[in-house]
Amino acid sequence: MFDLLPVMAWSSFADGTCEFLNKAHSTYTGLSREASRRWGWQTAIHPQDLGHRMEKWRESLASGRPSEAEVRIRRHDGVYRWFLLRVEPFFDASGAIVRWYGAGTDIEDRKHAEANWSASEEKLSLIFNTVPMLVWSCLPDGSADFFNDQWCDYTGTSIADSEGWGWTVALHPDDFRHAMEGWCAVLLSDGNGPPAFELRLRRADGMYRWFWLQTTAALDHTGAIERWYVTMTDIHDRKMAEDGERRSQALLTEAKRLAGLGIFSFREGADSMAWCNALYNMFEFPLDTPVTRELIEQRTHPDDASLSFGHVFDARNGRNFEERVRILMPGGATKFIQYCAYATVTLSGETEYIGTVQDVTEQHLAAEELILARNELAQAAKASSLGVLTASIAHEINQPLSGIVMNANTCLRMLNTAPTNVEGAVEAAQRIIRDGNRAADVVSRLRKLFSQKAITASPWSLPCATGDIIGLLQGDLRKCRISVDESYPADLPQVRGDRIQVQQVIQNLLRNAIDAIKAASDGPRRIRVVGAHRDGFVSLSVGDSGVGFANADPEDVFKTFFTTKRDGMGIGLSISRWIIEAHGGKLIAQKGDGRGAIFTFSIPGEQSPNPAIAPLSGSHKS
Ligand code: ADP
Repeated sequence: MFDLLPVMAWSSFADGTCEFLNKAHSTYTGLSREASRRWGWQTAIHPQDLGHRMEKWRESLASGRPSEAEVRIRRHDGVYRWFLLRVEPFFDASGAIVRWYGAGTDIEDRKHAEANWSASEEKLSLIFNTVPMLVWSCLPDGSADFFNDQWCDYTGTSIADSEGWGWTVALHPDDFRHAMEGWCAVLLSDGNGPPAFELRLRRADGMYRWFWLQTTAALDHTGAIERWYVTMTDIHDRKMAEDGERRSQALLTEAKRLAGLGIFSFREGADSMAWCNALYNMFEFPLDTPVTRELIEQRTHPDDASLSFGHVFDARNGRNFEERVRILMPGGATKFIQYCAYATVTLSGETEYIGTVQDVTEQHLAAEELILARNELAQAAKASSLGVLTASIAHEINQPLSGIVMNANTCLRMLNTAPTNVEGAVEAAQRIIRDGNRAADVVSRLRKLFSQKAITASPWSLPCATGDIIGLLQGDLRKCRISVDESYPADLPQVRGDRIQVQQVIQNLLRNAIDAIKAASDGPRRIRVVGAHRDGFVSLSVGDSGVGFANADPEDVFKTFFTTKRDGMGIGLSISRWIIEAHGGKLIAQKGDGRGAIFTFSIPGEQSPNPAIAPLSGSHKS
């Protein structure tokens, strides 16, 4: 019977000497029954385990109680395997031990499984405590029973504090309700419900940070939820960055809306541009239409074709663009848009243009109205000051003139009477001379009015003074689509004189040039301003591509009251010449090359041999 048992089994006498070992023992150990009997079996026990085995055996023998021992037993091929040895006493009717019976069960595989289990448990806890997230678990009813080290470090609480529902103390008060609802939804789900939500968790120092709470259900073998595993990932920095990004995106969109701004980008050589929605709206193109050059040019006002926004497609060599053009909307309205494209270099070395397009229709119309109003005002001021001047000159001169006419009549009458009243005629002639002198005085007084102080101003730069005036006229120039080229030699000396008066001359020349270009219906629309110096004189010529003088003598334009304009006065150029000559210089007009006119004035430069400039009156006139 013993031999039929699939485990090792033996019997020993009451003193512990082995009486009999079964077949399983001899098959396993390879020891014969004879060799194992009495104490022979000891040779198969691992030397390190024999002491322990004998100790347990002696304890049982002394106490008469059963015992167990785990020992390694050598197999016939020399390999040791773990066995659990159990011994039980067998009593006779009087209660004395007559035999001991023992059995050994192979526990090698269980031992390995245990070793593996404790190793994997160690590994698991290492993972739990080193993952960069808070990990905890809870029972199906939601009460927590495990927290990793990170949880305890972050919240500054112990596992005991957090167990059950203690962990909810760390929730942000504003998130409490939402977090509890989320948590209950998880618990009520069958593991396939809403598994994640965001909440704020208090750090040990009292600061709250945003976390992403995720749950996973662990199921038992029947498929019921056995435990929930929860991970909480710190998303605070990402969330703050996202919030910041969202805020700045919203701000940018709002700013773009307020400024009527659209944004585009374009890669050199590409067939289409990337546009933002605002830009699609501005051009009234259907969203998502590829924006090609043809599409943009369909909208562009024919007169602005040369400046069209579509020219960005010709972009080369990282050139920046800035233009104002008109676009014609499908409904017939005209919009003024200002576009800028700035070249940037991408990481892959390609040139990319990033640009803005602004709807400046309102500003443009307002600026045009302003220019109109300013021109009307200037015209009115010119007319009224001229009127006042004329009235006062007329008044001053009228008196001596009527005196002269009256005295001349008297003189004639006296000479025609018989006898001739020579004495009376002489007196009348003397009065004529007196009144004539008075009239001459008036004129010379008027001149003195314009020449109260000699021009002793400090030297100034002609290009700067010209630049100021071009700036002033920018609105008119843009409105009439006229470009101005300026060129000055680097060594242009400064000039001395009345800056304001010379600027009046420059303004007058530029205004006339604009008028002449406006009067020409076709051809280029350009003004060339060129500075030069020679023999101590600094000159400035203003050449235009306007109507020119036709067959007229250019010198005629300097005659007072000469004008070919419907609303002209014909005094601007005569005053300009007067001002320039008062500075010791010259103002001349010439026909332009091919078309237009060129007006040039020269005045003494700072290094001129005779920088002292005459006052506006006196004998300077050539
Ligand atoms: P106004 O501008 O009031 O006519 P000006 O004395 O400034 O008075 O000009 C006189 C005239 O000279 C103009 O009406 C015009 O016929 C002629 N003129 C002046 N500048 C030019 C120019 N750049 N091109 C052609 N004609 C000009």
